[in-house]
Amino acid sequence: MKPSLYSYTLDELTQLIKPSFRAKQIYGWIYHNFAMSYDEMSNLPKDLRLQLEQTYDINPLKIINKEISSDGTIKYLLELRDKKTIEAVWLKMKDEIVEDGKVTQEARYTICVSTQVGCKVGCAFCLTAKGGFTRDLYVSEIVAQVVTLKKDNDHKHNRMVNIVYMGMGEPLDNLDNLAKAIEIFKESDGLAIGAKRQTVSTSGLSNKIDRLGRMDLGVHIAISLHAVDDELRTELIPMNKAHNIASIIEAVKRFPIDTRKRVMFEYLVIKDKNDDLGSAKKLIKLLHGIKAKVNLIYFNPYEGTTYERPSQDSMVAFADYLIKHGLLCTIRDSKGIDISAACGQLKEKTIKEAQ
Ligand code: SAH
Ligand code: SF4
Repeated sequence: MKPSLYSYTLDELTQLIKPSFRAKQIYGWIYHNFAMSYDEMSNLPKDLRLQLEQTYDINPLKIINKEISSDGTIKYLLELRDKKTIEAVWLKMKDEIVEDGKVTQEARYTICVSTQVGCKVGCAFCLTAKGGFTRDLYVSEIVAQVVTLKKDNDHKHNRMVNIVYMGMGEPLDNLDNLAKAIEIFKESDGLAIGAKRQTVSTSGLSNKIDRLGRMDLGVHIAISLHAVDDELRTELIPMNKAHNIASIIEAVKRFPIDTRKRVMFEYLVIKDKNDDLGSAKKLIKLLHGIKAKVNLIYFNPYEGTTYERPSQDSMVAFADYLIKHGLLCTIRDSKGIDISAACGQLKEKTIKEAQ
């Protein structure tokens, strides 16, 4: 299998391709023009194009299914070269911009990226976990998700997107490839997506949170906390046995965080499991002293699960309680609820339809 051009930083490509100024041109073709073939690279000599074609692939991904939600969310099922599939999601957010007393709304986009085929962590509420673990994604497969979605949405290279590593897989379980992809996204001659626009979501491998911190990449972290006591958290996320809540909180406190920013804590709200005000009270205590923001997520049910979606009333009461006690909090409106929004759900559906 030929390596993909998306596997390399500009420095690496400069070492590989001579004369070296060509590397910058190629970077322009793949990240500014989203070129998917060598024929398009019109300012490269023909023999170089031929040589590149023999040595490198460009895009290792193919779009095989797409679901468009009424709220603008687009969920993609993408096929890798070994025919395995992953998901990536194009999320549309609205920003209000106030300028000269006029309020306008501008669309802002976030791409939710996968880091593995399947996942080893095995969370009880997560559909991705049901399929087990297949393999880590290569650097190029992580990078290609952003290029593919931007191109498919005709989104110019210099229009900004945010990246959240919240698709399939546990990002910190594929940390080396993740770190390199983050660097490639940051390249100023490439997509130029700064670290501040990239958020790594983790189920809480505390030793790897420390490792990510030591790499000092400048990215944000989001912790999938979901429970305030170890018993329930271990039921939901079995590896909580090895990385308990206290160890995660300690690791977060050591993590280098931009002083203007907050650590995001994801809290998946499940009916009659963790949606009571007693849990809200414990959450406040737990996050005391951390510049935190809590994101409450409605559990999104799927066929075969025993967990249920919480009522809107209990969700609002939970949020109110946190806010009254000084904790910043948002309720994640289930984006794309009509298109099987939570991770793993489109893949599952497509497999069923094909049967
Ligand atoms: N593995 C990482 C990132 C991918 S999971 C992590 O766990 O943080 C991304 C998010 O999807 C997690 O916060 C997870 O809690 C959420 N999720 C998984 N299954 C869900 C479901 N059925 N309903 C709503 N959110 C879900
Ligand atoms: Fe893996 Fe995250 Fe799903 Fe847990 S929630 S199984 S860590 S993808």
